[in-house]
Amino acid sequence: MKVVLHICCGVCAAGAAESLAIEGHQVVGFFYNPNIHPAEEYQRRLGTACKVAQELNFPLEAGPYTPEEWFSQTSSLKDEPEGGRRCEVCYRLRLEKTYDYMVDCGADAFTTTLTISPHKSAQVINKMGRKIGGEKFLVRDFKKKEGFKRAVELARRWELYRQDYCGCIYSMRQRRER
Ligand code: SF4
Repeated sequence: MKVVLHICCGVCAAGAAESLAIEGHQVVGFFYNPNIHPAEEYQRRLGTACKVAQELNFPLEAGPYTPEEWFSQTSSLKDEPEGGRRCEVCYRLRLEKTYDYMVDCGADAFTTTLTISPHKSAQVINKMGRKIGGEKFLVRDFKKKEGFKRAVELARRWELYRQDYCGCIYSMRQRRER
């Protein structure tokens, strides 16, 4: 099946794209992350995702970088903890755009790298994906079967940049406070 993989960063992409390829799917990467702050960090993560796409030999498309849209939808939720309601809005925005891209490029299905993170609930993300795309959304939990460990292994092998915060300005501040 031709599957659009929403990519949040290069390290997560390494584990998730490899896993889909092993399942026999044709992967098309889609980098859409208006949550990432600041712009230099966005470029750095995009560059890392491109490197992974080269290593695993799949095409990668970058969606528009529209942080203003992301801020307008999440500003009232800035005090939410990581994993709370702000994150649900953040997942929804990214998955909706990925669904649109899947339709545009004639792919059969879509899914996301987001479930590979040990800090994110696959249950919440999968529920959101199904709500947006129905059966077109591939329910996965890429962290299972040591998926996150494999992503870290590949990141070491390919010397990938590894960020230390989730992506938005609020997660960046929380990380600095810790
Ligand atoms: S913590 Fe991560 S998932 Fe949650 S809103 Fe920020 S960037 Fe999005």
